[in-house]
Amino acid sequence: MGRYTGPVCRQCRREGQKLFLKGARCYMAKCPIDQGTGAPGMHVGRRAKKMSEYGSQLRQKQALRRQYGMGELQFRRFFAEALRRKGVTGENLLQMLEMRLDNVVYRLGFAPSRRSARQFVLHGHVLVNGRKAAVPSAVLRVGDIVAVKDAPKSREAANRSVEAATGAQLPIWVQFDRAGLKAEILAVPTREQIAPTVDEQAVVELYSR
Ligand code: SF4
Repeated sequence: MGRYTGPVCRQCRREGQKLFLKGARCYMAKCPIDQGTGAPGMHVGRRAKKMSEYGSQLRQKQALRRQYGMGELQFRRFFAEALRRKGVTGENLLQMLEMRLDNVVYRLGFAPSRRSARQFVLHGHVLVNGRKAAVPSAVLRVGDIVAVKDAPKSREAANRSVEAATGAQLPIWVQFDRAGLKAEILAVPTREQIAPTVDEQAVVELYSR
């Protein structure tokens, strides 16, 4: 299944929570979730029956996958890698998602959403360790340096976005050089630092069925 290209807010409404997919608009009063708009679909009010355990695990997985803008296949691949790694699978998964290049570009404020961060990378505006990065889903490592390309167009776009994001909390696991529009990954973020809005254990249980 390819990437979702339909109405973005519909995904938040489906999951019943803010997934922050639209940048600045997500912080405005017109966010449908803040306005109390319910799940999409004509007959949704009629099926208010209790959700099964499988159903709730599925919703958690979909929310996490959609938050990071991933297709099912790619998400499964991330899960398989998280399972293979030492440690707690759920935490491994969160850490891999958080260390994705497009997520880091978003967290640094170079782009207003993960979706636009992905575009920013695909359009060649981002360098990793001095080389043009072409893969938004690449998982970064400690010591990697993420920078905006030294070109007027790239820097203007990133500066605009960083200014708009002033006040947003920067992750403490990166060292950000505002003037240089670059950052070094200092550590793998802990679960507490990631502060997930989704129960990652439910995702592990779903895929372990
Ligand atoms: Fe739309 Fe953002 Fe609100 Fe989600 S959080 S419903 S993407 S405005």
